[in-house]
Amino acid sequence: MRIVKYPHPMLAYESKPLRKIDQKVRDIVAEMFDLMYENAGVGLAANQVDLPYQLIVMNQTGDRERKDEEYVLINPTIHKLKGGVEEGEEGCLSYPGLRMIVPRAKEIKFQAVDLQGQPHTYFWKGFQARIVQHETDHLYGKGFWERAVATITPNYALFLLNLKDKFNQDRKAGLEPTEEQFKEYVAKLESERA
Ligand code: ZN
Repeated sequence: MRIVKYPHPMLAYESKPLRKIDQKVRDIVAEMFDLMYENAGVGLAANQVDLPYQLIVMNQTGDRERKDEEYVLINPTIHKLKGGVEEGEEGCLSYPGLRMIVPRAKEIKFQAVDLQGQPHTYFWKGFQARIVQHETDHLYGKGFWERAVATITPNYALFLLNLKDKFNQDRKAGLEPTEEQFKEYVAKLESERA
């Protein structure tokens, strides 16, 4: 498992709800948590590890000892945004080094299924609410920079262009999939999970 970087096509892909929660999914979740902690992240969406599933892991403390702060959110739907919007700084493991100011709802109500298949309703605010909005965007193929109102990183357009150049070089070298290979890969994974 690896974290894919912009502009990998999985980051622009709209994932389908996960229907089957089995040992395979539990193994994926354990690997995602490991990868998130190793990279000093606080949240990771399945799209970022090249998997087309509506699945998020998060821990707002970023501390692997704080198991009480770990959440596995499957098929999340944000129902109601209330309490207004606030701007805050965000980064993303798929855009290493890019920091931007993104407006997010301060308080949210959302539903998600856990690793046991149980549905939950959550009322979150602040940083936790920001993380889940950022990660849910990933599941719909949206990057945080698309919602940003300001940048901390100077010249972010050039930053994205450099990532694109790197990706295209890797693609030419056969390290990243062509569009055709990507489509086949997604179709295979989705048929296995249907
Ligand atoms: Zn992200």
